[in-house]
Amino acid sequence: MAGQEFDYIVVGGGSSGCVAGARLVAEGGHRVLILEAGHSHHHPLLDMPPGIFKMINGSKFMRYHTTVPQEHLEGRAHDIPQAHVLGGGSSVNAQVYMRGRPGDYDAWDALLRGGNDGADWSWQAVLPHFRRMEGNNRLHDERHGIAGPLLVSDPGHIDEFSRWFVQSLQALGLPFTHDFNGPSQTGCGFYQFMNRRGKRSSAAYAFVEPLKNDPRLTVRLRCEVDRLIIENEAAIGVVYRDAGGQEHQAFARGEVILAAGSLVTPKLMMLSGLGPADHLKAHGIACRLDLPGVGENLVDHPEVPITAIANGRHGYFKQGVGWRMLRNGLQFKLFGTGPVTSSGVEAGALVNPDDPAGEPSIQAFCVPIVYLDRDMRRTMKDTYGVTITTVVVKPKSRGTVRLRSADPAAMPLVSPNLLKHGDDMRAMVAGQRYFLRAFATSPLADHVERVVLPDPREADDAALQHHCRRFVKTNYHPAGTCRMGPDGDHAAVLDARLRVRGVARLRICDLSAMPDINAGNTNAPAMMLGDRCADFVMGR
Ligand SMILES: Cc1cc2nc3c(=O)[nH]c(=O)nc-3n(C[C@H](O)[C@H](O)[C@H](O)COP(=O)(O)OP(=O)(O)OC[C@H]3O[C@@H](n4cnc5c(N)ncnc54)[C@H](O)[C@@H]3O)c2cc1C
Repeated sequence: MAGQEFDYIVVGGGSSGCVAGARLVAEGGHRVLILEAGHSHHHPLLDMPPGIFKMINGSKFMRYHTTVPQEHLEGRAHDIPQAHVLGGGSSVNAQVYMRGRPGDYDAWDALLRGGNDGADWSWQAVLPHFRRMEGNNRLHDERHGIAGPLLVSDPGHIDEFSRWFVQSLQALGLPFTHDFNGPSQTGCGFYQFMNRRGKRSSAAYAFVEPLKNDPRLTVRLRCEVDRLIIENEAAIGVVYRDAGGQEHQAFARGEVILAAGSLVTPKLMMLSGLGPADHLKAHGIACRLDLPGVGENLVDHPEVPITAIANGRHGYFKQGVGWRMLRNGLQFKLFGTGPVTSSGVEAGALVNPDDPAGEPSIQAFCVPIVYLDRDMRRTMKDTYGVTITTVVVKPKSRGTVRLRSADPAAMPLVSPNLLKHGDDMRAMVAGQRYFLRAFATSPLADHVERVVLPDPREADDAALQHHCRRFVKTNYHPAGTCRMGPDGDHAAVLDARLRVRGVARLRICDLSAMPDINAGNTNAPAMMLGDRCADFVMGR
């Protein structure tokens, strides 16, 4: 079947794919095809920050992976929602702008040094990418840029619960920080968001939209890539299906760049015969290259809620229904202010409960509602309340992505093993204990009736571990499933220039490439990976 030819094909128009594709057009002058399985990013639910809570619970803009039963979690299978829309995670996420800490990238660099064409992944090397993309409206210094297309700003609205949370933590001795991306992560305060005046600044808006009239960029939506076309050990194109199920081919004169996210990119590699030989054989797929690292090393940030019921009508409960919805909608429309400008996670903290002077081990988010994932919502009924979630920022647990079958339409088998490693469980329990103290400290303590999850009367290690096993969920950051690694590392799928080892003209630029996860949210790092990938392709 004949197919159209482009210079580069980007598989997946998500956070990293949009950045890589757009730069190859805008700066490289190349003809680029972005194939995106999901929908257009133009929808009010996606533009308005609170839309995230509707999407997490069931939306066409999401794909809901369900894990295989997790034995160490008493057999629970939990959701991992992933974006299904142009802009990927950046179109559906909570918009918190975080990069992690310098040590995250310096550790990648230490791992990758040696025989990798000198590609530098140190903090000093990645910082210019973050800065160049950033359009911050408050911070301008050696760490923050103001001229980039990714609009970053302070929350447009701060709920009382968020303020009380921060004030209680200060009362406990945690310093206030005005910048979680500053020289030290430790502290409590208000996050910055990828947002301006209540409107989301996604990778689709920031990078692809400015090129919408550029004939060199072709974006095809509702087009799902099934596999790569490989000839003479080089990726020359892809096979994809459009929304009507019709099969097509497209060819790349230059390279194919995989950016379908950490749960799908390894699936596409395996469906193309690139992966662990035994596993491919078991599914009747001819193995072109035995790459044992494909689908290994899955790492995600585990998150566990502490939920309390309010003693008054505090927080965001019912702000999206009835007359309050009308009032809030009008305020947003007329003045661009009010609760509609907030994604609901304004306040947070980074802390090391075991060693206050050490690097933070826990990130916390304050969500002024009863906030539980789909599979846990039946546990308690919706009411006025507040949830503090605790997240282990450098988890040691590792999981896998495997094929369910050789059918491209089948979702992959995902086993993230959240909290399986004893150190992760220990860190999580310490985090839960720390933030339970916040609920017992004024002013937060003055506004909650009682903490319901976990039961504060049963706060010994065994009870808290049980709570963690019951409620642990993804922080929506799966990463690492086709990681970079040094020469001679048999599980390294990529070299330090994001090239697939053993296959020419093929790169991966999404979070799959991460050797280890950064300490913090992952959207800005995904965009940094896309930006660096474009540089590598352009030979910079
Ligand atoms: C609900 C939620 C909340 C989050 N909150 C935050 C936050 O507040 N701050 C933060 O920094 N990060 C947050 N994240 C995480 C962050 O958004 C992601 O880590 C980031 O978007 C990952 O980028 P990526 O390029 O690796 O993958 P994605 O952005 O997921 O992109 C993958 C793209 O590939 C497409 N695709 C999949 N399969 C195919 C196929 N077969 N063919 C073609 N296209 C395909 C998908 O539709 C998707 O658009 C959140 C994520 C979610 C889901």
